[in-house]
Amino acid sequence: MKIHEYQAKALLQRFGVAVPRGFPCFTVSEAVAAGQQLGAGVRVVKAQIHAGGRGKGGGVKVVRTDAELEEAARRIMGMQLVTHQTGPQGQTVRRLLVEEGADIRQELYLGMVVDRNTQQVALMGSAAGGMDIEEVAAHHPEQIHTVQIDPGQGLLPAQAEALARRIEVPEALVPQARDLMLGLYRAFVDSDASLAEINPMAVTGDGRILALDAKFNFDDNAAFRHGEWQDWRDLDEEDPNEIAASRHGLSYISLEGNIGCLVNGAGLAMATMDIVKLYGGSPANFLDVGGGATTEKVTEA
Ligand code: GDP
Ligand code: MN
Repeated sequence: MKIHEYQAKALLQRFGVAVPRGFPCFTVSEAVAAGQQLGAGVRVVKAQIHAGGRGKGGGVKVVRTDAELEEAARRIMGMQLVTHQTGPQGQTVRRLLVEEGADIRQELYLGMVVDRNTQQVALMGSAAGGMDIEEVAAHHPEQIHTVQIDPGQGLLPAQAEALARRIEVPEALVPQARDLMLGLYRAFVDSDASLAEINPMAVTGDGRILALDAKFNFDDNAAFRHGEWQDWRDLDEEDPNEIAASRHGLSYISLEGNIGCLVNGAGLAMATMDIVKLYGGSPANFLDVGGGATTEKVTEA
């Protein structure tokens, strides 16, 4: 399950991570009011969709006056935002985050994933954070540093400090960066996340370390112990077919192809997709109807 940036920031804040002051907004007038509440000065209007790359797609605007803020809010709210993660049709913007601007000196990258190879949580960091991180990963993988976290010990303060130094956090701010990483790790474990990203983690002119962007994906298998996820879900961001499937207890994932697959059992479904691919076809979906499927379930599938 994915959540919005403003929800991820609220989660991080509960674990002591510093984020800019800001408000989620559902209308342009709410955005204007939020901007006034933040006070004069630089503010940022950010599209809230479940996809990254918003900055490059025109979904993030830094503004200096109330008039500019209103104009940015009008332009972004309702737009069809196309990024490298949305596909060519884009995603309609229905929510904004209005926050106070930060005086950015450095944009660093932090990411956390469950690493299936090592069966541990891995923390990744880079001095080359910001909007071109995919380029860095593709062409300069040596600029991304990885720390494996022993699940018995958790992230050690010394590991976090060493990573902070490798990604060029100024020495005086290493303790702040360390505490942010420790908070990120606690948030990750506590919320059964599968992926978390703070990009950029900013070093500001007034000597603070701030999470300027935040992304969290959760492991759906843990939904039974997270009642709060129901409130965080945004059905507008989800595939209607996937919503219908989850209502009927089906494992379903939409894909780009044109050959529909309706299969009993995840292993057979995977094998079927492999064979379709092997012979040059392209599956339209992954669908596991399940072993003990009833007439009703098969009909829905
Ligand atoms: P993404 O493109 O979807 O990852 O959106 P981000 O939240 O990462 O924003 C994109 C870029 O906007 C960042 O890399 C920053 O360069 C810039 N940005 C975001 N917040 C601020 C801010 O408070 N002040 C300034 N000056 N720039 C910001
Ligand atoms: Mn970002």
